[in-house]
Amino acid sequence: MLPQQAQPGDFSLQVLRTDVAGMPLEWIDYRDAVRLYHTDQVAYACGSLLYRVRGGYNAVTGRRSMVDVNSIIATVGRSSAGPKLRDRYVPPLNNKTLFKRDASLCLYCGGHFLSRDLTRDHVRPVSQGGSDKWRNVVSACRRCNNHKGGRTPEQAGMELIAVPFTPTYAEYIYLKGRRVLADQMEFLLAHISRSSPLRSRLVITLNEGVGQHREIHD
Ligand SMILES: [Zn+2]
Repeated sequence: MLPQQAQPGDFSLQVLRTDVAGMPLEWIDYRDAVRLYHTDQVAYACGSLLYRVRGGYNAVTGRRSMVDVNSIIATVGRSSAGPKLRDRYVPPLNNKTLFKRDASLCLYCGGHFLSRDLTRDHVRPVSQGGSDKWRNVVSACRRCNNHKGGRTPEQAGMELIAVPFTPTYAEYIYLKGRRVLADQMEFLLAHISRSSPLRSRLVITLNEGVGQHREIHD
């Protein structure tokens, strides 16, 4: 199916897929979304209209199929991971998501950096038995990382400006989002605990008056 018309337009916007109970599952593109509509797997849609995709002509009626794709779609069936599994879920660690968790800040000097200028620092160095896990890694600029070397922050006389944490399932989905729309962010926020360090950031971003289709970068 070739989309001929999209309203309001940008085909790179991602759709948030949830299970039928509204638990966020993953980001999908409009093609996946259209496929889900065509195979009757969409239970209901929320959020706003992202795409109006025109498909082929029906051989019998001669009418053209049309699919409206919303920013959030709930699909039939529950996720394979039950709530208990989800609670214990540990997302895979990668630099892209790590830097996003830390808001592109160096957690030592507090400076804001481009991804290419950030590094993954092991708070307790691997050489001292530190693990390569979310709670032991932070974003650090090259300068701070070099200065710290193979030492712990205490040994190096440095201080972290935030405590590293393991993102929950919903937090991880948020962090993985390329361009999270306001309604998607609001939806995810309902699944992010009040004590989450990410929550205040999301609330601030939302309160900055993002429009329905405005992109949110942080
Ligand atoms: Zn730094």
